[in-house]
Amino acid sequence: MIDNNCIFCKIANGEIPAYTVYEDDTFRAILDAAPANEGHTLIIPKEHYENLFAIPDAVAENVMKIAKNIATLQKERLHCDGVNILQNNGAAAGQTVMHYHLHVIPRREGDGHLVPWTPLQRTNEEQETTLEKLK
Ligand code: 5GP
Ligand code: ZN
Repeated sequence: MIDNNCIFCKIANGEIPAYTVYEDDTFRAILDAAPANEGHTLIIPKEHYENLFAIPDAVAENVMKIAKNIATLQKERLHCDGVNILQNNGAAAGQTVMHYHLHVIPRREGDGHLVPWTPLQRTNEEQETTLEKLK
């Protein structure tokens, strides 16, 4: 399904132009309009899914294969020093466009970008309690 009010539906389906790095039947990968570094790419499914919780398993599998190829291109052609794969789900996690997308971000030594969190200190007991909840 496509949401007529969604900018990424329009971009992914070619209704609004974007700098397309890669395209197939189900995805379009575009240059981010406000990149963290040169080459920052967003992989966007052509169908509208709000976020990770809504995507089918096939989309989850295929998006990571595409990310691997784009990261490899960034390393070979842009000569970046590293790559972040980043994907935000929900406003609390920093998602601003509510159509699933995966960021592939070339990183350079000393570029100053942080993936920001403050580490918690956890006892073994706390880790075990968490594990019980998750497994
Ligand atoms: P989020 O915070 O939702 O994970 O990331 C949204 C990303 O989409 C941001 O990095 C932002 O710069 C990018 N973005 C938002 N609107 C547009 C647009 O119209 N075109 C392109 N190319 N990127 C966009
Ligand atoms: Zn959409």
